[in-house]
Amino acid sequence: MHMNKFLYFGDFLVVPAALAVFAYLAFAAQGGAAGPVYSSALCAGFIAWTLAEYWIHRVLYHHAPWLSELHERHHEAPRDLIGAPSFLSCGVVIAWSYLPFFAFAPVFAAGFASGALIGYAAYMVVHYATHHWRIEPGHWLYASRMRHIGHHVRGDADFGIVTGFWDRVFGTAGRRRVQRQEA
Ligand SMILES: [Zn+2]
Ligand SMILES: [Zn+2]
Repeated sequence: MHMNKFLYFGDFLVVPAALAVFAYLAFAAQGGAAGPVYSSALCAGFIAWTLAEYWIHRVLYHHAPWLSELHERHHEAPRDLIGAPSFLSCGVVIAWSYLPFFAFAPVFAAGFASGALIGYAAYMVVHYATHHWRIEPGHWLYASRMRHIGHHVRGDADFGIVTGFWDRVFGTAGRRRVQRQEA
């Protein structure tokens, strides 16, 4: 759906608030002793986000009912603010990254969910930037922009936004371009 800026950018209220709550939950009970588990869980959550992001984009955004129609409209009008409301997206991220773990490993759950939310926020920033910022060669997001603009053109390659790593792992990195070169 088309969204107003409040719904589209609401992540930047929700994510910092959720990070503060998760840090409180992790450190209030154990203090600094929670640090190693919290920080390694945070790294794991961030990496898990990049993998989730790849498959969400490749499978759900390109093939699932409703989501694929929404995403197709984004492909057609990349600069319009189209997507699910950020409060809903943040809720989904927290649901899969926090709820499965919090009952038996609360510090891990808080760190893992924080890493996933940071990954989600990075995805929102990088994706918005690739379509709206002026990004010239040499800019730190130039490779990300080229990869994602390539995805808009080709549609069946370069699904990763935060990183192109999983495209290389799963064989979707700039596939058509390679095929054309081989032909
Ligand atoms: Zn896009
Ligand atoms: Zn797409």
